[in-house]
Amino acid sequence: MIGLEFKSVTKRFGDNPPVVCALDLRVEPGEFMVLVGPSGCGKSTTLRMLAGLEDVSEGQIHIGERDVTHVPPAQRGVAMVFQSYALYPHMTVAENMGFGLKVSGVAKAEIDAVVLKAAQSLQLESLLTRRPRELSGGQRQRVAIGRAIVRAPDVFLFDEPLSNLDAALRNQMRVELLRLHERLGATIVYVTHDQVEAMTLGDRIAIFNQGRIEQVGPPLEVYRHPKNRFVAGFLGTPSINFLPGSARRESGGSILFEVPECGKLPAPDLPEQVLARVRSVGLRPEHLQLVPLDSEWGLSGELDVIEHLGDISIAYIKVPTQAGTIAVKLGMAQGLALRQHQALRLSCEREHIIAFDAHGQSLMA
Ligand code: ADP
Ligand code: MG
Repeated sequence: MIGLEFKSVTKRFGDNPPVVCALDLRVEPGEFMVLVGPSGCGKSTTLRMLAGLEDVSEGQIHIGERDVTHVPPAQRGVAMVFQSYALYPHMTVAENMGFGLKVSGVAKAEIDAVVLKAAQSLQLESLLTRRPRELSGGQRQRVAIGRAIVRAPDVFLFDEPLSNLDAALRNQMRVELLRLHERLGATIVYVTHDQVEAMTLGDRIAIFNQGRIEQVGPPLEVYRHPKNRFVAGFLGTPSINFLPGSARRESGGSILFEVPECGKLPAPDLPEQVLARVRSVGLRPEHLQLVPLDSEWGLSGELDVIEHLGDISIAYIKVPTQAGTIAVKLGMAQGLALRQHQALRLSCEREHIIAFDAHGQSLMA
């Protein structure tokens, strides 16, 4: 197993502003690294530079000990799986999977053995003689993954491999990818715009925004300790709630965050000069609770709409400020008891509040 590294890699197309800017990223041997971010932020370009399908404008890329910045794609020891599958329509599943080896001059008997082994691991054995048009979307994607496995690359690259599949199949393939990673122990760089895929698949995730990495870390660490509002808002459904306001320590010693016209919340215990810089807070929907209407602490609002998802309800509560609507996850029983326009009060534990400064940077250090 080997790792890889981007060293201050920049990519420009023509005279346009760079689409990837001075990117530094290390992927450890055997690591499942997910590059996640909104459409157009430079994820695919980053992956394509790693594969050698796109030139690097500045900087270097290392795979293992080797500087591969100017090495042709076929000699980099990587295999890529695309969203579009990119299978050869006139070849069978077995031929598609073995094609790379055939081109490299491997003997037929050996190819057959390797293809069969990969097919078994992906439950494709019974489909080896079919052509791509005779397969479902999920099966085609498995063939594309099988074709990568057969080549036994040092690094697997995936670009949105599940985006063309329906929701149920996407869930199933996510679990299969996790198993695959466990079995192969391979180094994987995986691109997606889907934060659920990122959270569930990645050993670590790198959150991209406009050609730069905002934060890299294990999914739960990034979810719990986002460095800024972009990262906080990107991970989680429904999105984290941002509320404008200010924080202070009262004479009695209690620390509060005040949302104008709306109420106050217990604020994190930060030094005085840090409290003075708080301009907004982030509250995750699962960390808010309903409290009695006459509670001293809390935010007042009224129920706008509610979604019952079967296991939980999501209430959208309108508050009288520019904050607008706050999403709250509730138990089903609690959710079913609510009526539209009902007056409600919300609060949150001190340790779950994330405070941000005027630039949207986290003050939680
Ligand atoms: P993502 O995969 O995150 O959606 P991409 O890496 O595909 O984003 O694209 C990043 C930016 O680079 C986009 O603005 C896109 O239009 C631009 N881009 C990608 N490929 C080319 C190209 N061949 N020529 C010019 N611009 C490109
Ligand atoms: Mg892309």
